[in-house]
Amino acid sequence: MDFEIIFLGTGSAIPTAKHNHTGILVKTPKENILVDCGEGIQRQFKIAKENPCKLTRLLITHWHADHALGIPGLIYSMGLNNYSKTLQIYGPEGTAKKLSSLQYIYNKFKIKYEVNEITKKVFESPELLIEALPMKHHNTTTFAYSIIIKDKTRLDKEKLKKLNLPNSPILKKLQEGKDIIHPKTKKKIKASSVIYTEKGKKITIILDTAVNPNTIKISQSADLLICESSFAEDEEARAKESYHLTTKQAAEIAKKAKVKQLVLTHISQKHEIHPEALLLEAKKIFKNTIAVKDFDKLKI
Ligand SMILES: [Zn+2]
Ligand SMILES: [Zn+2]
Repeated sequence: MDFEIIFLGTGSAIPTAKHNHTGILVKTPKENILVDCGEGIQRQFKIAKENPCKLTRLLITHWHADHALGIPGLIYSMGLNNYSKTLQIYGPEGTAKKLSSLQYIYNKFKIKYEVNEITKKVFESPELLIEALPMKHHNTTTFAYSIIIKDKTRLDKEKLKKLNLPNSPILKKLQEGKDIIHPKTKKKIKASSVIYTEKGKKITIILDTAVNPNTIKISQSADLLICESSFAEDEEARAKESYHLTTKQAAEIAKKAKVKQLVLTHISQKHEIHPEALLLEAKKIFKNTIAVKDFDKLKI
């Protein structure tokens, strides 16, 4: 397992008894990343038995209230719980100023944090890559994100055993793709004969947006596309007017980008009684689609 995704909030503009404002917790072996933090997300953490103090990064798609109202509350509680790391916060231009304004209203945050206003590459480590591309959502700067666990080069332990190679720094050289000389037999060992590539995984999160080419670009070949689906197929004009997607449009993105699975979220109040109808519309175009509700979990 590379990713565990916990849907803390799957509603849209107005939260309901069933659907909280948006918040998606993405866990990797080394990171706990929260994408958006609508109102009530800190309670959703508690109900899901997840710990906000384990958060490493907060990615903000945009500053509309249903995606950001929960930020001061979450940070306030993290401060009371002695959050000891430095929270890395990513968001559109203006994010630093907005966080300062929140501190003007609610007093200084009691946690350490760093603001990274977004360029194309958000973050990169040897294991992880986070990318962002701008979406089209009213006149509000909005980003979609891809979180990618990179391919890993692994040593084939069985083959190493057969070659009787000692556990020494030469193994690291092999892993880096460098050929070595066996310390005992003095024979050359080709790195390519003992290493293999463990394929990484990619998830893409597209929240509020109207149809635009970057949706396909950012989600290209993703293992999982989590996509907003605020409107039904027959509400296309309303979706366009409010810069959102219909089920059909979300499914078309999944199909064109050749993703493996599509997850529909950001379900509007109007459609929550019959989410299966939305699901069926998407499935006509992209079969491997699910619709999520609060506290659903996915492992990929
Ligand atoms: Zn929204
Ligand atoms: Zn929005």
